[in-house]
Amino acid sequence: MPGAKQIRRRAGVSRGTRKRSAPKPASLSSAVILAEQYLLPTYKRSQTVLTRGRGAHVFDDTGKKYLDFLGGIAVNALGHAHPRIVKTIRRESARAIHFSNLFHNEFQGPLAQKLAQWSGLDRVFFANSGTEAIDGALKLARLCGRAAAESQEKTQAKTRILAMQNSFHGRTFGALSVTATEKYRQPFAPLVPGVEFVAFNDVADLEAKFDETVCAVIVETIQGEGGIYPVSTEFWERARALATQHGAVLIADEIQCGLGRTGREFAYQKFSSKPDIAVVAKPLAAGLPLGAILTNNAVAARVSPGLHGTTFGGGPMICAVALEFLQIVEDEKLIENVRARGEELRAGLDKLRAKHDFIKEIRGEGCMFGVELSVEGGLFVAEALKRGLLINCTHDFTIRLLPPFVITKAQVREFLGQFDKVLSETPRVVPAAETSAKKTPSPAARSAASAASR
Ligand code: PLP
Repeated sequence: MPGAKQIRRRAGVSRGTRKRSAPKPASLSSAVILAEQYLLPTYKRSQTVLTRGRGAHVFDDTGKKYLDFLGGIAVNALGHAHPRIVKTIRRESARAIHFSNLFHNEFQGPLAQKLAQWSGLDRVFFANSGTEAIDGALKLARLCGRAAAESQEKTQAKTRILAMQNSFHGRTFGALSVTATEKYRQPFAPLVPGVEFVAFNDVADLEAKFDETVCAVIVETIQGEGGIYPVSTEFWERARALATQHGAVLIADEIQCGLGRTGREFAYQKFSSKPDIAVVAKPLAAGLPLGAILTNNAVAARVSPGLHGTTFGGGPMICAVALEFLQIVEDEKLIENVRARGEELRAGLDKLRAKHDFIKEIRGEGCMFGVELSVEGGLFVAEALKRGLLINCTHDFTIRLLPPFVITKAQVREFLGQFDKVLSETPRVVPAAETSAKKTPSPAARSAASAASR
């Protein structure tokens, strides 16, 4: 990894001819130096400076090309610079970027209709990010719980929220309160009260903790940050039944796994029942920040003007882009592509597993896979970067693959070939604590795991 000195040296590297207003090398390099000096140090960033992308490829400031199997952490479902997205942004930014939610705009209603059609739910609220949409969903759950308790003249509050161990829902206080990872939570305690964690996919634990005081159970249909762990059918259906029985809402966090990534519009569509609330964000507006809470009419009936709101959420340009994104997914039959490429990827990864004994397990489907290793993943991420492959590592031992929905058969083949080389040639770091109960990654692997930390 180049240090600040090398980055400065890069400033002298001539870039040849460049059209349009792309940043000149000197300003690009100083941008990195300024970032390191002035930004809050919240990320362990790679020193690679990405400057542009096209389809499933991105390019750095030296012109080096990378095959992008990280997809901006599940955001860039269409890859980069999709011509229809570029055209929509150009057209709509010249018309109106923002009015306010005091007025209707042309695109919010049609976008809400399309999301309702995709999800099987009825109504939508637009937010600006995943975490913010999760906070809104939790507020809706508390609203329903309060109304249910009042209508039944219950003396006990109906405010408890059941969340899952190993979950990740975001960084704002509400979302953080239902996020299990202690290192994210502990520095900010006390968090929102009333949250209890259930062992993921443990039906007995869920049953033991569910009662009339629960207003919501929140589940990532596939845990993403936690290492690509799908919720089991048994657990989902039991959560659905218990929520119905106790008058609580079932919230599906589909921020990472939703909107086509699994080869279905929503990951929960493999089950026979629906959630009361589904939350989406990441790919929704093709890289622009947009989240959405989708819910049924029963929950929506509890909402009245003034109870929730946002300044930016659902502006005309961003909704036009999101509508275009969903239309492109339909027009280009990308869900079918995700399914087909996902099967090829799974078959290839299974072969790699047979070849490399340090691959413990392959989890996931479609364009969402976790490759769990018995050795630290960070060095593999760094080696992949050197070879022109963008991947990341989550929970220290799981390589996460989130390719765009537009990935081609040839690109899957190319990835598998390169990944095999990465797996073969990267030195393996067996965790120091292998002999003890807890796995602790080495400092080398930790710092190499660029972009793994959020
Ligand atoms: N929920 C899940 C499942 C996520 O993967 C993420 C982000 O990674 C979030 C919520 C938070 O979304 P955002 O980063 O847009 O706030």
